[in-house]
Amino acid sequence: MDRVVDQIEKKAIENNIPIIQKEGLLFITNYIKENNVKHILEIGSAVGYSAIKMALIDENIKITTIERDIDRYNEAVNNIKLVGLDNRISIYNEDALEYIDTNKYDLIFIDAAKAQYIKFFEKYKSNLNNNGVIISDNLKFHGFVENPELTNNRNTKQLARKIKSYIDFLKTNTEFQTTFYELGDGISISKRKNQ
Ligand code: SAH
Ligand code: MG
Repeated sequence: MDRVVDQIEKKAIENNIPIIQKEGLLFITNYIKENNVKHILEIGSAVGYSAIKMALIDENIKITTIERDIDRYNEAVNNIKLVGLDNRISIYNEDALEYIDTNKYDLIFIDAAKAQYIKFFEKYKSNLNNNGVIISDNLKFHGFVENPELTNNRNTKQLARKIKSYIDFLKTNTEFQTTFYELGDGISISKRKNQ
């Protein structure tokens, strides 16, 4: 099993699929263990790597994950079958901004198009259980958020600005309290206030 998952990770890295970094993954898996998380929604499956890693923590964990890119979706479907987790990971080939879900989750992991993070947050916050949290990945965006001068690429600069607005949105949010972590590519965890 571990060898199969290692192969999935290796292939993703070789193909420049932006899977979660080790430190970020460790942070999330610890959170899942310590808080007895059972129902997870992931926005942005890529090839299924992070969903598989989260599902392997405990056999009672169930994950819904959404991927809009058809090739990545197909590869994720294969990978999830390969590790025998298709009974606990449900994957949908949809744009998460259009997908409709009325289920409640203990954890929502936002790891998709960086320009859309505020929209994902606003759309899915009503899918949280009472003690549910939203974890967001890539808030450092390889250092470009802190140091936009590191790139001359307009698209990269634009994305860095979008992530900065998301960080400001979280910092000034009246409903949610967010803690930011420097680890991995930058992770945050948002909890509803006064609970
Ligand atoms: N969570 C994965 C990595 C996800 S990479 C892991 O760590 O293993 C981000 C993915 O989000 C990409 O594959 C991209 O196609 C997908 N994505 C971007 N915007 C999306 C959207 N609006 N809806 C669904 N998927 C989206
Ligand atoms: Mg990520």
